[in-house]
Amino acid sequence: MKFGTPHPVISLAPCTTEQVKRTATTLQILAGTYMLQSNRANFNQHGTDPSCLLCKSGPENREHMIARCEATEHIRDVHRRKLLDILYKHCDQAPLLQETIQNPSLFTAIVLDCTNPALTHIAPFPCDAIREIIAFCQQLTHSLSAERHTQLQRLAPRIQKKRKLRQRVQKATRKPSTPVSNPHA
Ligand SMILES: [Zn+2]
Repeated sequence: MKFGTPHPVISLAPCTTEQVKRTATTLQILAGTYMLQSNRANFNQHGTDPSCLLCKSGPENREHMIARCEATEHIRDVHRRKLLDILYKHCDQAPLLQETIQNPSLFTAIVLDCTNPALTHIAPFPCDAIREIIAFCQQLTHSLSAERHTQLQRLAPRIQKKRKLRQRVQKATRKPSTPVSNPHA
C-alpha cells in the first residue's frame, strides 16, 4: 500500500450503509481500538484477566476473536466454507488455500485484510476478487462481533458480580497492616 492512499479495506469495500458499519468493526480491530479482554488487561491497572470471557480457552486477542473462540465457532464454521468457495474461484492453489483457512494466524490475516503481505503465497488476488473477499470477510467479522456482544450481554450480571468480588478482595489486600507494638519499648 502506498503512503497517502486509503487502505484497501476502506477503498474496496462496497458503500452501502450496512457495509460501512461492517467496515468500521474491521477497522477498529485492525487499529487495536476494539475492546477485547487482552486490551482491557493491558490497560487496566487492577490486573484484569486477559482470558476470553465466553470460552475461557485462552487470552482474548484479535486472533482468538476471529479464528479461535469456541463460543462463536458455529458462525465461523459456516463462513469458513463459503470463504473457501470464494477463494477457489480466484486462486487455483487449492492445497495452499486449505492450509491458509485452517491456520488461525493466516485465517485472521485474510479475514481482516486479504492484501496482507503475509498472504503472498496465495495472493495477490485480482481487484474484483479482493472486493468480493473484503465484503464477505467484513460480514463475517461483523457477525462474530454481534454474536460475541449477544453472549457477553447474557453473561453480564455474572461478570459484574465477579468483578465486584475481585475489587473487594483487592481493596482488602491493599489495606495497610496494623503496626506491631514493640514489647521492649
Ligand atoms: Zn473465546
